[in-house]
Parts: sequence; C-alpha cells; structure tokens
Amino acid sequence: MGSRLPSSLESSGWSTRRDIGMVYDWIVIGNGIAGAAASYELAHLGLSVLLVERHEHLQGATRHSYGSIPHWAATTPIQQQLCEEGMARYRQFSDELGMDTTFREQDLLLTVPVDANPEAIAQSFSPCLISPQLISQDTACEMEPLLNPEAIAAALTIRHGHVNPEKMVQAYNHGFQNAGGKLHIDQVTALKQKGDRVIGITTTTDSFHCDNVLVCTGGWTRHFLNFWGIPVEQYFTHSESIECPNPGIQLNTFVMSAITLRFALETNASRPEHQTSWNSPGLEIMPPVLDAGALQFSDGQIRMGQISRVLTDPSAVIDADQSETNIRTQVSTLLPCLKTVVGHWHHCLVAFSRDNLPLIGPLQPLQGLYLFSGFHHPFVFVPPLAQRFAAHVSGPPDPFIQQMNPHRFSPESI
Ligand SMILES: Cc1cc2nc3c(=O)[nH]c(=O)nc-3n(C[C@H](O)[C@H](O)[C@H](O)COP(=O)(O)OP(=O)(O)OC[C@H]3O[C@@H](n4cnc5c(N)ncnc54)[C@H](O)[C@@H]3O)c2cc1C
Repeated sequence: MGSRLPSSLESSGWSTRRDIGMVYDWIVIGNGIAGAAASYELAHLGLSVLLVERHEHLQGATRHSYGSIPHWAATTPIQQQLCEEGMARYRQFSDELGMDTTFREQDLLLTVPVDANPEAIAQSFSPCLISPQLISQDTACEMEPLLNPEAIAAALTIRHGHVNPEKMVQAYNHGFQNAGGKLHIDQVTALKQKGDRVIGITTTTDSFHCDNVLVCTGGWTRHFLNFWGIPVEQYFTHSESIECPNPGIQLNTFVMSAITLRFALETNASRPEHQTSWNSPGLEIMPPVLDAGALQFSDGQIRMGQISRVLTDPSAVIDADQSETNIRTQVSTLLPCLKTVVGHWHHCLVAFSRDNLPLIGPLQPLQGLYLFSGFHHPFVFVPPLAQRFAAHVSGPPDPFIQQMNPHRFSPESI
C-alpha cells in the first residue's frame, strides 16, 4: 500500500499538478467527527490518506455540537456492542492519539416537564443498555441548584460521557498526521472519474488522485452527492444553538429534556411520502422543534439550545434574533441564570438517516466512492464504526458495516 504513480500519468510526462506522482489509497472529504475518525483509522492501518476540509476553522455540526456521549442509551444488540467498544476506546484515546481528547463523565439530568408523567417517561428508557434513575424534583435541585424547581415534575439521572468536539477532532487529526496522513484545506468541487470509477477529486485550486474517495460531508452530503447525480437517502436539519464562552456560571450537571422532540421530527420528516419534497428546494417539511437543554464544557463555556428545522434548502436563511429569543426563553424556564448570559447564536446542518442507522459503504453507481455519514449519536457510534469501516475495506467483511449499506432502502423511494 502507499502512494504510487497513476498509470495514466506515468507515460504522459504531465507534471504541473501538485499531486503528480501521488495516488492516495483514500481521499476523505470533510473533517468533522466522521471524517476525522475515518481518516485516522485508515491511516492507522498503513494506508496513504489525504483528508480534505474546506474550512481551516471548523464550522459544521461537529464544531457546534455539545459533544455528549450517551453510551448508556443503546437499545439494540448492535448499538450495545458499539457502545461498549466506543467507551473502551474513549477511555484510552488520549494515549492512543497522543493528545488529550478531554473525555470525562458527569451527571446528566433529564428533566421531566410539569405536565408529564414521570413514571411513564422513566419507562420509555427501559430498553436502554443502562436505564437512567428516576429522581424527585427535590433531589434534582440538590444535584443542580441552578435548576428551577417549578419547571419540572421530576428528573432522571445517569452518568454521561463528554468530550469537547473540537478537541476530539484535533486529537484524531494529531493521530492521523502521526500515522503519515496528509491534511489539505480546500473545498472539493468535483469528483474525477474514469469510466464508472472515481479516480480522484478536484478542489478550487488543486487536483488529487486516489483509489477510493470517502464522503464525510455531514449535512451537506445530500446536496453534494445529488449534484453529481448520486441519489442518497440522507437528510438534514438546520440546527441552532447559543454558545456562551465565558458565562461566569458553574453548572454541576448536564441538563437536557427527557423528551427529545428532534428524534420524532427526524423520523417523520424522512418518511417515504416526503421524498419528493426533499428534492424541491425552498420547502419546510415539518414545523421546527426546540429541545431545551444546556451543557457546560470542562473549559467553562456553556452551549444551550437547540432548535431543529427541516428546511430543504441547505442554505436557507434563518431569523437569528427570533431564534435566540426562543432558545433563551425555553432554556431559562429550566435554568433562569441563562436568560441574559452573554452568548452567540450559531447555525449548522446536522445529517440523519431514516432508520437511525448511519449510511456507510459503497455508493452506486461509481466504483471507489464510499459514504460515512448520517449518524444518530455520532459521538457514541463514530469511533467504533470508523475502526470497523477501516478494517472492513482492508480485510474481511464486517457484518455491522454491511448492514449500514447506503442503498439499503428501496430504490423507488429515492
Ligand atoms: C447544537 C448541536 C448539539 C449536538 N449535540 C450532540 C451531542 O451531544 N452528541 C452527539 O453525538 N451529537 C450531537 N450533535 C450532532 C453532531 O454534532 C453531528 O451529527 C456530527 O458532528 C456530524 O459530524 P459529521 O462529521 O458527519 O459532519 P460535520 O461536522 O458537519 O462535518 C462535515 C465537514 O465536511 C466539510 N465539507 C462539506 N462539504 C465539503 C466540501 N465540498 N469540501 C471540503 N469539505 C467539505 C464541512 O466543512 C464540515 O467540516 C449536535 C449537533 C448540534 C448542532
């Protein structure tokens, strides 16, 4: 493995391009958590890998993520095994990657609204690998003194994993570069093809050759692939949150609602009857939802949110002032101290699939083109699946990866 001269160029003498003489085993597009993890795992196996990201300072979903790791929430045997593998890796990642990932565990409070039935909500978590414990309003407020007791009927609690998402990507990139990987900052503008094979990529200023391309473009994937005539059943929400870099407040716990509206939104918006709408720009498939919660990083910053909107235009413009007011109003019902704390509104695209399983594997009809995207709880599932994907494409087939084939849905519904 490693680089070699492309046969088409060996005889041409063409030497003006930067990548002359280099054929990477893999080019990975996108340096969010998915691309950072996959590029590291491929390079770690001794493959030559070029990672191409358009932004020097990340701006995608990983940049704006909370970075929480609900390793306890697995409900199927596949998820449970991946959670266990993922947690084993997180516990030793800083050593493996040679950089602090900031991984830690902290108490999570899942708040139960005053008009909800605490026992019924607790019961809804019973399929989880580890069920959170139902606690009273008083106990919740002892654990988190900044919580407004009048806003909750009760809460559930469990130990929850966390990393700073940017630090996690930096640690992956550090391990990647130590393993010989190359990082290039530029926007990928085209896929280079020879017949039905992908043979490289073009960026705004360069061109690179490879045997395989791995698309890790997150919420932009559908748009990116459709542009090249490759239909894919991946969707995206416009996600909005507020980041408070120096809040001057100390939360003892992560505070999230026990009822996550975003999951139902994703399920409903990806139903077959909405497929045509997804191909029409300018539509809002469902009304937006707001999942109120706040999470403090180990460096003190607080992130709160989040609004999820299903707008089919990835570049849709959103009323930031109105959204910020809505987020602050709902979050401050739970945590009044966050009503006026200085913060900035942010917006990004978050990818999802129809069945909560990611889309991983070859993309037809082009040979050598692969997808690694659309994760439900990516900070839990990306690390083990990136490792399995790299092993799968370099050795015996992995049954988990095979189940995540991007073309597993019926072609008629694309
Ligand atoms: C507010 C918020 C909170 C969240 N909280 C959690 C959480 O607690 N836990 C959890 O597991 N998940 C959480 N998520 C979801 C999670 O952050 C995302 O699903 C995940 O980060 C997606 O990672 P990704 O690598 O697939 O995509 P992204 O992080 O979006 O990365 C895609 C990258 O591809 C690059 N790219 C796109 N097109 C091109 C191109 N043509 N050329 C070059 N580069 C390109 C982009 O610049 C981007 O950097 C949250 C998301 C948000 C917004």
